[in-house]
Amino acid sequence: MIEIRDLHKSFGPLEVLKGINLRLEHGKVLVIIGPSGSGKTTLLRCFNLLELPDQGILTVAGTEIRFAEKAKIPRKTVLGLRQKTGMVFQSYNLFPHMTALGNVMEGQITVQRRSREEARSRGLELLGKVGLSDKAEAYPHQLSGGQQQRVAIARAMAVEPEVLLFDEPTSALDPELVGEVLKVIRQLASEGMTMVIVTHEMKFAADVADLIVLMDQGFILEQGSPQQVLKQSQNPRVRQFLNRLS
Ligand code: ADP
Repeated sequence: MIEIRDLHKSFGPLEVLKGINLRLEHGKVLVIIGPSGSGKTTLLRCFNLLELPDQGILTVAGTEIRFAEKAKIPRKTVLGLRQKTGMVFQSYNLFPHMTALGNVMEGQITVQRRSREEARSRGLELLGKVGLSDKAEAYPHQLSGGQQQRVAIARAMAVEPEVLLFDEPTSALDPELVGEVLKVIRQLASEGMTMVIVTHEMKFAADVADLIVLMDQGFILEQGSPQQVLKQSQNPRVRQFLNRLS
């Protein structure tokens, strides 16, 4: 479903991704962990070209893009890739002037050209799935952070992406609201949704991940199953990172 080969990304003189290689199969969950500033968010944003890599090859659901410095990627390719990926941001990024249902309908109407009735019916179904049937007519400012994030997940799902991308989906939430959002993500994982998740929630990572990638200073320090990375890794820098968390 996703393959990345020798991906590099710099911001000016700062090289943030220094040659990333990974593969994720259809229906699997990749969790990216690592210290702050190690390049996790930048890597995630390369998956849907919110950041443009300088070098390397990215394949998402059959679309392969080769990057070379200064080479322009056609807009059509960028839009095609974006349609295959749904993004959930740390700060929800809902449209503030639209209701929960309006948020979930918008992409279906503008991107997928569905009729309002169709978008409404699917929107209500998805709001039900994230446990918010009774909040369809509420505006974002009337919802808790956890509810807003669940609307954001429903919105990302609404356009039927091949892959869902989550950028620290619970780190803006009060601790008591984290569980309800993780529950929805767990549910999607159990239904076979392909997902890439950047998170600091280690217990959740261990539970939900098929593949864990631990980043450090722009490199992948370790990758493998949760067991391999979190329990069995002998790499002293991995142990140091994990010990700091416990
Ligand atoms: P993480 O998600 O692991 O905390 P990031 O990918 O957000 O790391 O950031 C990696 C490094 O890239 C940091 O040093 C950060 O300051 C830098 N960085 C991220 N985005 C930009 C940007 N748009 N412009 C310049 N530097 C950036």
